[in-house]
Amino acid sequence: MSKNKSSESVKVVVRCRPLSRKEESSGPAGGIVQMDLRLGQVILRNPRAPPSEPQKTFTFDAVYDANSKQRELYDESVRPLIDSVLAGFNGTIFAYGQTGTGKTYTMQGAWLDPEKRGVIPNAFDHVFTHISRSQSDKQYLVRASYLEIYLEEIRDLLDPNHTNARGLELRENPDTGVYVQDLTSCVCKSIKEIEEVMNVGNQARAVGATDMNEHSSRSHALFLITVECSQPGPDGRKHIRVGRLNLVDLAGSERQAKTGVQGERLKEAAKINLSLSALGNVISALADGRSGHVPYRDSKLTRLLQDSLGGNAKTVMVATLGPAPQHYDETLTTLRYANRAKNIQNQPRVNEDPKDALLREFQREIARLRAQLNYRKWRSKQKNEQMEGESWDGDREKETEGEEDEEVEKEAEEYVKLEEQRLEREKEAIRGDEYMVAEEKQRLLGEKERMMVDLRKEQEATEQLTAKYKAMESKLLVGGKNIIDHTNEQQKMLEMKRQEIAEQTRNEREIQQQMLAQDEETLELRETFTSLQQEVEAKTKKLKKLYTKLQCIKAEIKDVNDEHVKSRQELEQTQNELTRELKFKYLIIENFIPPEEKNKIMNRLIFDPEEDQWKFQPLVPAERSMKKRPASAVGYKRPLSQYARVAIAMGGHSRYRVSVAVKWDYSGLATSSPGCPNLMVYLSFSQLDNRNNL
Ligand code: ADP
Ligand code: MG
Repeated sequence: MSKNKSSESVKVVVRCRPLSRKEESSGPAGGIVQMDLRLGQVILRNPRAPPSEPQKTFTFDAVYDANSKQRELYDESVRPLIDSVLAGFNGTIFAYGQTGTGKTYTMQGAWLDPEKRGVIPNAFDHVFTHISRSQSDKQYLVRASYLEIYLEEIRDLLDPNHTNARGLELRENPDTGVYVQDLTSCVCKSIKEIEEVMNVGNQARAVGATDMNEHSSRSHALFLITVECSQPGPDGRKHIRVGRLNLVDLAGSERQAKTGVQGERLKEAAKINLSLSALGNVISALADGRSGHVPYRDSKLTRLLQDSLGGNAKTVMVATLGPAPQHYDETLTTLRYANRAKNIQNQPRVNEDPKDALLREFQREIARLRAQLNYRKWRSKQKNEQMEGESWDGDREKETEGEEDEEVEKEAEEYVKLEEQRLEREKEAIRGDEYMVAEEKQRLLGEKERMMVDLRKEQEATEQLTAKYKAMESKLLVGGKNIIDHTNEQQKMLEMKRQEIAEQTRNEREIQQQMLAQDEETLELRETFTSLQQEVEAKTKKLKKLYTKLQCIKAEIKDVNDEHVKSRQELEQTQNELTRELKFKYLIIENFIPPEEKNKIMNRLIFDPEEDQWKFQPLVPAERSMKKRPASAVGYKRPLSQYARVAIAMGGHSRYRVSVAVKWDYSGLATSSPGCPNLMVYLSFSQLDNRNNL
C-alpha cells in the first residue's frame, strides 16, 4: 500500500487581511504587521512597547499581505497539495486564526466573483479540470461530504434532519484511519454538482444557528472530497488510488470568556474551545517531538485530523491575521501557534488499492448490469432468430462496449416493435379465420393478448435495467471526456505558465531563506581583518546583533511565560467552577438519594471512552431478554413428570406417546380452514402410531 515513505513537514503560510474601515477610522496607528514577501517573513510590532524594543520576526513557507490575491495563494501554496490528492495522497488544508481575520474568506471567498473565489471553489475547478484532461484509460469517482463540529458534536450538514438528529460517532479503521460513521457522501459528476453540495451544507449551517456569526466563530466546518481513480497498471489489472482532501474552516482562535457561568452554560463553555485547545496541545506535542504521547483522543477535531497532523497526509495550514493594533496579543498567539506547526513531520504515502474503494464496487455493479443486459440482448436475438428462421451471427458479439450499449437498446426496441406487429398480424388472421370456432378464436386471441402484455413487461424491465446501468455508469467520470466546456489549449498553457511561476517563486524564497541562515553562520569564517580597529568594529557589530537576538529571545521567554500563566489561571478558574458544581451535585446526592438507590445506580454505570460519557448498563443483558425454553431431561424432547415417564415405560396411554399431534401442512388437502381459505390443515394421524418414543 505504501509507495513513498519519506516524511515531510506541515507547510505553514500566513495571510494578513487589510485594515477594515472601522479599524482605519478608530486609530491613526496603522497596521502592526509587516511582511517580507520575498523572504516569507512576518514582522510584528508591539503597539504598547517602547520603540527601542526589537520587533518580532517569524519565517514561514510563504506569506501573503493585504494586497494578495486569492489566486496567488491557491497557485503557490494549495495547487501542489491538490495535485498530490489527485495522485492518491491524503491532503488537508486548514485555516486558523482569530474571528474576523479571513478564514472563511480564504477557504470560501466570494463565489460569484472569479477574483475572490477561495480555496474550496478553486479546488473544485482544479479537480474536475484535471479529470477532464487526463488520459481516457482513467476512471474517476468523486464524492463529497460536509460536516461541522459544534459543542463537541459532529453534525452531518448534508442530512436534511441534522438539526434533530443526534451527533455522529467517530470510528477507527486500521486501513483508512478515523472516519465518521453514517456520514452522507454525495457522488459528484461536475463542478456544478459539487458546488450544489457545498451550498446545501452552508444553508444547513446557517439554518441551525441563531446567530450565524457567533455560530461560525465557535464551530469547525469540514468539507471532505474523496477522489478515487482507477487506471490499468503494467500488470494489466486496474489499480485504484484514493486521495482524500479535508478542507477545514476552524472556529475562531480567540479565548472565550468562561468566567461566572454555571451549570449547562458552564459545560457548554468548557466544550466551546475544547477541540481548539486540544488541537494546540496536539501541535505542541508533535512539534516538541520529545513527548511520546500525542493527545489525539482529547477531542473530535483532533481525532478527525489525526492523519493530517503527524500521519499519512500532506498538510497546509493557513494562519490568518488582522493588522489592527488592538488585537496584538491574539496575532502574536496565532503566529506562535503557526510557528510551532512548522515542525510537525508527516509521512504521506499513496493510498493504493484500499479494500473499501467505492469505485471497485461501482465497477463490479456496472459489469453485473452489463452482463444482465447482454443476456437479455442475447435472448431477444434468439427469439428473433426463431421467428425469422435466421441463423445467429456469433461474430457480432465482439463489438466495442460503447457501440454495444446503443446497439442493445436499438435492437431491443426493434425486436419489441417487430413482435408487436407480428402479434397484431396474427390476431388479425385469427379474427379473419372463418373456419375457426368462436370459442377457439377467443382463446387464441386471449393468448396473443397475454403474449403482448408479457412483451411489454419484458420491455419495461429492460428499460429499467438500462436506466439503472446508465445512471451507475454516468457516476464514473472518464478521463479525456470534456466535462468542462471552457477548457482550451490557451487556457491550459496559461495555467501551466502560472504554475511554473508559482514554483519558481517558491524555490526562490526557499533559497533566500537558506542563504540568510548560512550567512549568519559563516559570517565569522569569511571575515579577514586588516587591522585591529577593523576587527573591533566588526566584532562590536556582531555583538550588537547577538545582543538584539538575545533580547528577542528573552522577550519571547517572557511572553511564553505570561501566556502559560494566563492559561493556567483560566484552567484553575474552570477547575474551581467545576469543583463547585461537583460539590453541589454531591450535596444533592448525599441528602436526597437513599444510599441503596445510589449504590444500585453506581453499579449500573459504565464509562464509554468512544463517546466520552457515562452510560447505564441495561437492566437485562440484551441477549437474555428473551426467556429461554427450559432445558429438557436428558434424552427427552421436553421436561417430563414422573407419572409420564412411568406411563411411557408401561407403553400404555397414547397421550404420552406424541409431542406434536397437529401439523400444519400446505401440500396435503383434507379440510379447508374456514377463516383462512388459503391454508389447508390436516391432522397427521399416521404419525400418532409411528412416534411412540416421544
Ligand atoms: P473569519 O472567517 O476568520 O471569521 P471572515 O472570512 O468572515 O473571517 O472575514 C471577515 C471580513 O474580512 C469579511 O468581510 C471578509 O470579506 C474580509 N476579509 C478577510 N480577509 C480578506 C482579504 N484578504 N481581503 C479582503 N477582505 C478580507
Ligand atoms: Mg468564518
